[in-house]
Amino acid sequence: MSEKTIYNFCAGPAALPKPAIEQAQKELLSYKGIGMSVMEISHRSKWADEIIGEAEDNIRTLLNVPDNYHVLFLQGGASLQFSMIPMNFLQGTGKPADYIHTGSWANKAIAEAKKEGEVSIVWNGKDENFVRTPAQSELKLDPNAAYVHFTSNETIQGVEYFEEPETGNVPLMCDASSDFLSRPIPVEKYGLIYAGAQKNIGPAGVTAVIIRDDLLERVPEGLPSLLDYKNMADNKSLYNTPPMFAIYMVMLTTRWVRNDIGGLKAMETVNRKKADLLYEAIDNSNGFYRGHAKPECRSRMNVTWRLPSEDLEKQFIAEAEQEGFLQLKGHRSVGGLRASIYNAMPVEGCEALRGFMAEFQKKNA
Ligand SMILES: *Cc1c(COP(=O)(O)O)cnc(C)c1O
Repeated sequence: MSEKTIYNFCAGPAALPKPAIEQAQKELLSYKGIGMSVMEISHRSKWADEIIGEAEDNIRTLLNVPDNYHVLFLQGGASLQFSMIPMNFLQGTGKPADYIHTGSWANKAIAEAKKEGEVSIVWNGKDENFVRTPAQSELKLDPNAAYVHFTSNETIQGVEYFEEPETGNVPLMCDASSDFLSRPIPVEKYGLIYAGAQKNIGPAGVTAVIIRDDLLERVPEGLPSLLDYKNMADNKSLYNTPPMFAIYMVMLTTRWVRNDIGGLKAMETVNRKKADLLYEAIDNSNGFYRGHAKPECRSRMNVTWRLPSEDLEKQFIAEAEQEGFLQLKGHRSVGGLRASIYNAMPVEGCEALRGFMAEFQKKNA
C-alpha cells in the first residue's frame, strides 16, 4: 500500500531531506559496516572525527567560511546562545550591548542578555506588530557597544533580513536558527552566527556556532567550562560527549545541500521559488488571505498569513490536514497560519499547498 503524500510545514523540529534520513536508515545498525551504530561509537574514535570533520567541512564550504573563524557544535539549543553570548562578551565589559528587536525570538534573546549586563534596544518593531526589519538609518547604534545582536529570521512573525546591519567595528552577533544555510551570506561581516539545528540543518540537540577567532580572546576567565566559547573551540567541540547522532544528521543534511542541491546559491533559488509560490497565492487572493509581513521583509522560510475569521482559519487547518498539509497552525502567540518551508520542503509541497489555498478560497470566500 502506498502512503499518501504528506507535507510537513512544522516550524521546528522541521522536515529533513529524505535522502539524509534514508542514508541514516541504511546505516542505522552498522555505520560504514563497523557493526556499531553512530549512537554507540566513542566520540574519541576516528569515525566520530570523520563525522564532525565532514559536518564542519560542509558548513565551511557551503558558507565560504574564512579561515579565521571556528565552527563549533554545541548543546543547549539556540536558547542557550541567548545567554552564552552576553556571558562571554557583555558581562564585566562595562559597555552596553545593542539588540535589534524584531519579534518573539529577539525578545527572548534580549530577556536573557538583561540578566548578564546592560542592554540597549536600538530598534523596536513592537508598535508595528513586528511586520518588518529596520532600515540601517533607524538603528541607534552605539559605536562603543560590546556587540550588536540581531535575528536574521523571525520564525514566528515570518520577517527576514536580506542584508546585514552595518556595525562598523562592533562585532555583529546573529541568531540565524531559522534561515541558516538557506542562502549565501557574507560570513566576514559577522562576529558570531548561531543556529539551533532543528529548523534547517538537522534534528534538535545540536547548535552550530561560527565564531571569529579574535572574539575568543575576549572570553573572560572563570566561566563554566561548557559555557566558555574558548574552551569549546580549544577542544574542537569535544570537551565533553557531543550529541554524535545529531551531528551525524547535520553532516548528512549539509552533504545533501552541497551535493544534491549544489550549494547555497542553488538552494536560494529553490527557496525563493517556493516562497514566491505562496506569497503570490496570498497577493492574488483579493484580500481573502492577508500576509503578516511587509512584502520587502517577507521571510522565505516562514510564510505567515491570516484569513477573514478565526473560524475560517480553523476550518482551513482542519481541511488542509485531511489533504496531507500538516502543522500549518500559526504560533499560539500570534495566531493565523504559518507555512514553514525550510530547505527540505520540496517545490512540489508549495505548489500543492498553493493549489489547496486556491480551492479553499473558491469554496469559502
Ligand atoms: C527555534 C528558534 C530558537 C530556539 O531554538 P532552541 O534550539 O529551541 O533553543 C531561537 N531563535 C530562533 C530564530 C528560532 O527559530
